[in-house]
Amino acid sequence: MSRGFNFSAGPAALPEPVLLQAREELLEWQGERASVMELSHRGKAFVAAALRAEHDLRRLLAVPDEYAVLFLQGGATQQFALIPMNLAAPDQRADYLVTGHWGEKAIAEAQAVTRVHVAASSSAAGHTRIPDRADWDLDPTAAYVHYTPNETIHGVEFHQVPEVEAPLVADASSTILSRELDVSRFGLIYAGAQKNIGPAGLTVVIVRRDLLERSPRPLPKILTYAAHAANSSMLNTPPTFAWYLAGLVFEWIRQLGGLVAMAERNRAKAQALYAAIDGSGGYYRNPVDPACRSWMNVPFMLHDAALDAAFLTQAEAAGLLGLKGHRAVGGMRASIYNAMPPEGVAALCDFMRDFQRRHG
Ligand code: PMP
Repeated sequence: MSRGFNFSAGPAALPEPVLLQAREELLEWQGERASVMELSHRGKAFVAAALRAEHDLRRLLAVPDEYAVLFLQGGATQQFALIPMNLAAPDQRADYLVTGHWGEKAIAEAQAVTRVHVAASSSAAGHTRIPDRADWDLDPTAAYVHYTPNETIHGVEFHQVPEVEAPLVADASSTILSRELDVSRFGLIYAGAQKNIGPAGLTVVIVRRDLLERSPRPLPKILTYAAHAANSSMLNTPPTFAWYLAGLVFEWIRQLGGLVAMAERNRAKAQALYAAIDGSGGYYRNPVDPACRSWMNVPFMLHDAALDAAFLTQAEAAGLLGLKGHRAVGGMRASIYNAMPPEGVAALCDFMRDFQRRHG
């Protein structure tokens, strides 16, 4: 076997102990004489595992009781549409802070549903910084304020939760569980699973229960948060394998010491990689304002784009996978989510220094 260090942005690396456990119990799970994938989502064994996963996620994030935790499908993209459908009336203003590609996408979906107002955008700055707080044009009576705590493509991360008056809605797809989070500051937090939670196909939504009472328009049940909450996310067949695997990931995080330990590990990984970039004398470059550089996604350019192909081929040969940058930004991107061990980042930094020596 020759597993590499996987820097893919998502679907992304999963913790190896989790994969090993899943392999171990793939054919027969918990004495059920069948795979977890083959069991009814309404059976006792799966329901218990599903509840345990929810409980563990609640414990990791210290989710207050007045929040529902939903395990849904459709990806973060579906949430771009469900959020305005469930939280905003057709002509009600919803404020959006845009600091990258995914914020733009969220707006594009919401525009079909409600009155979107761009309260601030870093688009003119190429999404390399967070607009000054003083320049945000927020309406306290807006249905909600939407932002993207970590922009996966541009590598821009809020290191503080913004202070706003309307309910705060966060697309936490690429930062959830990377550090502690004060859930009580939010109206709704959502995340596609395929970075820090588990395999693709699962989307976690954490929503303050009073917001479930909002019913701004008639909706089919399957698109209604309140219906999912009332049915414990089993309105229809949930993505059982992804839910089960997410449960293993939550347990892995707990065993590593929870989110305090995870944050320390992630901070150190990011620091090491940015130090390698900044210490390269301009050979490598990260364009993001240092105050909001992401801990999870680190885009970087080589000083000469003609070297990109050689960098990628040699990195792959060295077991460093998935480093090609998103086409919107170019260059490279190292996604260093929870499952990326510090040794993976150290190997990348060594490779970068070595590549520079050989192609300097
Ligand atoms: N938001 C963010 C921050 C993302 O990183 C992504 C996926 N990379 C998405 C939304 C879209 O997620 P999905 O493909 O699960 O809909």
